[in-house]
Amino acid sequence: MANHLVGSFQLMKSLNKTLILNVIRTDGPISRAEIAKKTNLTPPTVTNIVSELISSGLVIERNLGESKGGRKPIMLTINTSAFHVVGVDVGSRQISIVVTDLNASVFESHQVDLPHPLSEGRFMTLLKNGIRTVMDKPLKEGSIVGIGIGMHGLVNPDKGVAIFAPNLNLRNMALREQLEAEFHVPVEVDNDVRAMALGESWFGNGRGIDNFICVNVGNGVGAGIILDQKLFRGASFTAGEVGHTTVDPDGPPCTCGNNGCLQTLVSGPAVAARAREQIQAGRSSVLEGKDITGEAIYHAALEGDALALDILRQTGRYLGIGLANLINTLNPERVIVGGGVAKAAQFIMGPLKDTVAARALDTPARSTTIVTAKLGDQATVIGAVTLVLRKLFTPEYSQSDVS
Ligand SMILES: [Zn+2]
Repeated sequence: MANHLVGSFQLMKSLNKTLILNVIRTDGPISRAEIAKKTNLTPPTVTNIVSELISSGLVIERNLGESKGGRKPIMLTINTSAFHVVGVDVGSRQISIVVTDLNASVFESHQVDLPHPLSEGRFMTLLKNGIRTVMDKPLKEGSIVGIGIGMHGLVNPDKGVAIFAPNLNLRNMALREQLEAEFHVPVEVDNDVRAMALGESWFGNGRGIDNFICVNVGNGVGAGIILDQKLFRGASFTAGEVGHTTVDPDGPPCTCGNNGCLQTLVSGPAVAARAREQIQAGRSSVLEGKDITGEAIYHAALEGDALALDILRQTGRYLGIGLANLINTLNPERVIVGGGVAKAAQFIMGPLKDTVAARALDTPARSTTIVTAKLGDQATVIGAVTLVLRKLFTPEYSQSDVS
């Protein structure tokens, strides 16, 4: 079965096959006649290609069409549960791995903690062992169609190389080459935030939206930008590094060497540092004497702690400045906020939206909705799965990354 489907990646290089497969995915259950109408292909072409898709196991027939007086038409759907995808989210401290079906429904997950410091050899061993743990489960034997990696840091998606992962201090890792040699399935790699944006566009709050920005605020800050249905990567794959845009020139020092970058004001560690400073300066809080993290501040805010509430509102305002700049530059229909900060949405989103309304130009601000990521904690790992699904369901030479 696996060889069958690995072969079908090549098979999909035929535009007509991909076209039909994608129509079945988005509009199924659907009859052969309807497919012919939607694709403008001739009925014999549709019949031939559908036969190939059925024999590859990707498509199945179901008898649930509406009867119009005569025989019930045979309907086609994607055989979503027959094949599986491995999605991997490589963060600064942890690797998260899931196995999903072709609908990105998760039914297996596994986490691996990353020690620091970390050599490339040790990292690759932990990554391979983690993936093997989920792939070895009996149900999935031979059914994995690919592995998608959402990788922290700078990534060359064309070559499948992690160019630089600053928080792991690792460079130039040939992830695709090494993992394809190990697991013998196609491997797709992209930056974690771009993967997140792709996942939200297929399965989350970006569905059906041509222009949106997905901003991830966690230990760092980055954005995945979808313009005209296309993931925008930039000239050297660094588009979306909004964490290093200046919000306060006199602000805290940043790892990039500048001062007052957005991420020095809104990332988890930055928010925690601000709370610590204010407590040291004598402000009282339930956080006093505790291990202060972004999450601890959120819990303190839930208890009504005044310092925690102030810190989160201020974070919303800073993030609002960053988003207003993005909205003025790109005029998106929607901004999706994901990562740790999204959990504190009830405290952050109000001041954030007020700041955007005050600072962005009226026209783009009015046409932009700001929401949190639908896929929550799993946004990146589902995005990693989507890297594989995109390869399977959309033609190589398509002008579109989204469904
Ligand atoms: Zn910076």
